[in-house]
Order: sequence, then structure tokens, then C-alpha cells
Amino acid sequence: MKYAVYTLGCKVNQYETQAIEALLRERGFEPAEEDADVVIVNTCAVTAESGRKSRQAIRRLQSKNPGALTAVCGCFSQLEPEEVSALGADIVFGSGDKRAFVDAIVKALPARNVDDPFRRRVFEPLPAGAVSGRTRAMLKIEDGCDNFCTYCVIPYTRGRVRSLPLEDCAAAAKDLADRGFKEIVVTGIEIASYGKDLPGKPGLADAIEAVAQAAPEARIRLGSLEPTVVTEEFCRRLAACGNVCPHFHLSLQSGCDDTLKRMNRKYDTAAFYEVCERLRAYFPGCGLTADLICGFPGESEADFAGTLAFIEKCGFLFVHAFPYSVRPGTRAADMPDQLDRAEKEDRVRRAGEVIARIRAAYLQSWVGKSVEVLFENGHMGHSGQYCPVRVEAAAERGTVRVVRVTGTDGESLFGKLADS
Ligand code: SF4
Repeated sequence: MKYAVYTLGCKVNQYETQAIEALLRERGFEPAEEDADVVIVNTCAVTAESGRKSRQAIRRLQSKNPGALTAVCGCFSQLEPEEVSALGADIVFGSGDKRAFVDAIVKALPARNVDDPFRRRVFEPLPAGAVSGRTRAMLKIEDGCDNFCTYCVIPYTRGRVRSLPLEDCAAAAKDLADRGFKEIVVTGIEIASYGKDLPGKPGLADAIEAVAQAAPEARIRLGSLEPTVVTEEFCRRLAACGNVCPHFHLSLQSGCDDTLKRMNRKYDTAAFYEVCERLRAYFPGCGLTADLICGFPGESEADFAGTLAFIEKCGFLFVHAFPYSVRPGTRAADMPDQLDRAEKEDRVRRAGEVIARIRAAYLQSWVGKSVEVLFENGHMGHSGQYCPVRVEAAAERGTVRVVRVTGTDGESLFGKLADS
């Protein structure tokens, strides 16, 4: 039997698709570009645009594979199961229970199984997190979110926080390292809340220590982090691991305190800036990246100008800037002073100009220094700080090599292998 698959959205969705593929391959399925027996779409609902793209992907795969069974899962089908059924999906699952989803595909029984996400209490372990041939593996240690940021639909689609027990984190990390992966990306929907549902309430630092110790030869990269978890103790414990990448992706969202409050974020800009400084004290020269929402309801021109000044001050390596997207059912959807689309897009464009400038400045700060690069192909890889690095001489794929940085074009670093 053959399957075709398309994934939208975040790293957790990518991870879960990899798990679905692994489970299907265990049952003798093979991937196919066309003439698939089943088409699978793992959908996303984080913005209105992702909902539109999810619909589009379902239609595209159906028309490329006429007659195939259509199986849809993920956050969009969690939120809009009726709509997904109306698109002709035979199997409609939400964002949980991937093993049952695969069982339903294997039996090829048309099924409907969108559960209530708020009833989920147990973390669903899935085969971790990599497709053979890749150098970097993902390890999902947490699902769900209890934060209810006013713009976000995720707590309604993913349910409460559920965590992978510490010993299972360690076992999964060891397995990935034994399979030859040189980098493990620790991921989840809201990993800062890791462990609050587990006996003894371990924290994220416990999970990272367990992973780092179980895979001492691999480098450990953290997925998106809520800044509130980055305390002095957290930094000290991560730095002591010795194999945690000096790269941290922080969920910023706005550089304006009033806007952060309306978003129900749990920090202000002063606390966020302290987090950046703390990380730099423990991981000198670390790469900091962030997410930013432009044009949140009520964000004035002065608020946005303050945000631009703030991201400049933080000196990020990169910022993912998105226009605010109205998600029906969230509190922000009903807030007054919604901005029009053109204004939001213009703010994203203006943020992009600042981001390009700070990225170039950060990359320039590495010229003349050395970085450790995991090569994804013979000539290109990423440093521990998550800078893209290119070299002329060939390096073996999947190896970590020291590169002396000789220049930058503002997007990537260029350099020479320094350890040959
Ligand atoms: S922390 Fe906020 S933005 Fe992130 S998933 Fe939870 S509710 Fe959404």
C-alpha cells in the first residue's frame, strides 16, 4: 500500500507526521508521490491562513490521487471536523491519538474520531522523531498548553499540558543517539510547562538534563521557549550539561508592555530583556531568535515603533514576524480596534527591514571566530547558535566540524574547515 502525506504548521506537527510515517512503514506502507492508496494531511489552525492552506492541501492531494482514501488529522480538523468531512475526508481525527489514526487508515474504515481535547490527561508516546537520512531528530516531550494567550487557538485544539516522563525522555534520547543522530531538538507545544502534570512535578531543566545525559555525544537544541522559564537556575543547569546548543528561540510576540498584557502574556519587556542578558551571561554569543505578532488589536503606531526599537535592542539572530490573524473563539477576535490587513502586512514588512539589519550585525560578530557546524550536506550546515554556515571544501554529511568564519552576506556565514 502507498501513502502520500502533507504537513502544515509547527515542529510538533512535523514530528507527529514523522511518527505516523514510521507507524505506517512498520505496517508495510511505502511513501509515494502519486497513485497513493491513502492521502494524509496533518493540518494546522494557528492562523486563518493556515486553515486556508489546510483546505487547499486536502483538495490538492485528493486531485493528484483520485480514488485514494483521505485521512486528515491535526489542529484544523480538531476545530472544524464538519468542514473537513465536507471536503470529502474519509477519516477525520483531531490533534490527538495518532496510533488510532494509523489503525483507522490501515483498516481503511471511514471513521470519525474527534475527541474532546480537554479530557486528554495522558501524553501519547510516539516513535521518536526522525526520518532516516536526516542529521537532526526531534524529540517531543510535551503536548498541550494551559496559557490561553488571547490570540491563540492552540489550548482549544491540543488540550491541557501532558508530559513524557523523565525516564522515557532519556530512553528516547538514547535511542536517537544510538541511531546516529548528532542533534536532538527537544520540542513540544509549550515545553516551559513540562512536568506540571507528572508526579513530583519535574521541570524543563530536569527533562533537558535527562536528555543531555542520555545522549552525551549529541548536541541538544531547545524548541520554542516561554521566557518565564529562563531563570538563573535554569541557565546554570543547562550550561552545566555541556552539550546544550547556545541557541534559544523565545516567544516574544510584542515589544510593547500594553500589548503583551492584552495578549495575556506573562512577562513584560523589562523581564524579557533580562532573560536575553541572562542567557548571554551563561552562553556567551548565543543565538537568540523570537516570534513576533504584528498588528495585534489596539496596537498603535507608537506601540509598534516601540516594538521595533525593542527587537533592535535585543540583538536577535532572527525574528519570525507574522501578521496578527483573527481566530474565531479567542478573546482577541472580539477585541476592539482591529487593524486592517494592509496595515498588518505593512508592519510585517517594516519589521523585516529591522530584522535583516540585526541579523546581519549578529552574523558579522562571528567573522574571524570559529563555530561548530553540523553539516546537513557537503557544503552547508548550522552552527550551535543556529547560524547557517557554508564552506567550499566538502565536509561529510552528518558530521560536526569546526569552521573558521571568514565572511558573511548578511544571511549566512562563510568559512573554512579548521579541524582538517
Ligand atoms: S503559550 Fe500562548 S501562544 Fe503558545 S500555545 Fe500556549 S496559548 Fe498558544
